[in-house]
Amino acid sequence: MLYFDHAATTPPYPEVIQSMSEIMAQHYGNPSALHSAGEEAAKLLKRAREVCAGALSVSPKEIVFTSGATEGNNLAIKGTAMQYRSRGKHLVTTVTEHPSVYESFRQMEALGWEVTWIPVGPDGVVNAEQLAEQVRSDTVMVSVMHVNNETGAVQPLEKIGSLIKEKNHRVLFHVDGVQGFGKLPVELDNWKTDLYTLSSHKFKGPKGAGILYIRQGVTLFPLITGGSQENGHRGGTENVAAAAASAKAMRLASAAQADFYHKMNGLRNILFEKIAKMPEVMLNSTDSGAPHIVHFSYPGLKPEVLVHLMEQQGFLISTKSACSSKSSEPSRVLLKMGRDKDAASSGIRISLGWEHTENDVIQLCRALEQSADKLRSITARRR
Ligand code: PMP
Repeated sequence: MLYFDHAATTPPYPEVIQSMSEIMAQHYGNPSALHSAGEEAAKLLKRAREVCAGALSVSPKEIVFTSGATEGNNLAIKGTAMQYRSRGKHLVTTVTEHPSVYESFRQMEALGWEVTWIPVGPDGVVNAEQLAEQVRSDTVMVSVMHVNNETGAVQPLEKIGSLIKEKNHRVLFHVDGVQGFGKLPVELDNWKTDLYTLSSHKFKGPKGAGILYIRQGVTLFPLITGGSQENGHRGGTENVAAAAASAKAMRLASAAQADFYHKMNGLRNILFEKIAKMPEVMLNSTDSGAPHIVHFSYPGLKPEVLVHLMEQQGFLISTKSACSSKSSEPSRVLLKMGRDKDAASSGIRISLGWEHTENDVIQLCRALEQSADKLRSITARRR
């Protein structure tokens, strides 16, 4: 079976699996405990924080371990809105964010905050000037994802960061970095980012673990209260094994980023070339997007059936994002990019990883053509 769903999750590095099981077996102390087992765990946690900080070129004090990006995004958005409510109640984001961002803003809207939703162009990219125009003196935060999880569209973060700060130097800039880390260069300082969210399993780390970078001087209203762990930002005994394994994955993925980009770019070019020749296929990704995600629509065909036909041929692919793939609703992201309902309901996402070869991609395209032909003839017979 060939796995082409790396945007949903990635197979962990062998070092990650080894590190987690070693720590769980041998260093199970509670890092807050005063005895030697506790101290040992606290040391591991400290080291993990240093490694994560190193991978992002920030200070260890700016790293908070979370249960993943869903928690990280919720904490960054709601925690900022609530903490800085005396500055104003206006927030800015885009219409194609991941549900963990989108729903967080919707909740703040329901609670009385005003949210400005910035549209995207047909390529899924926002216009930085248009976004910055919406920033006002009472705007508390702007949140924009790095790479879109369905289409791979990359947002102009550097331009957005500098324009919004020119307009209002106090506005906080949050970036959901989940699909970009390890794939594209990350430049938190250049982007003028104050908050940056990651999920470890997207870069070959463990699931249920993530990192939230909080720039020094920024404080968030905690959503999970309890003990004073994670600098008061998140109560609860730390998952030491997951933090250490996340750090390991972060170090490896960040060191390999440039090679990853180069390799994926080559594979994506083959995919683009082959898809462009397929009949009745509409590409939703562009070559200025992240190189590991290719998304396209087969208007008129049921993508869930295509996914099953592909699995019968030995290929695991997906329709849209894993979080919404069980819903039969058209993709919000594609609708917001101006696709019609038919195109937005028939999307297929291929997401590439390290293990893939040119031959894998060629075989995948052949299987896609055969599966789509089969599905077209079944669909025609039923009409
Ligand atoms: N943001 C983006 C862009 C994502 O792709 C995902 C995962 N699909 C998340 C946030 C949430 O990550 P997790 O499900 O690991 O909490």
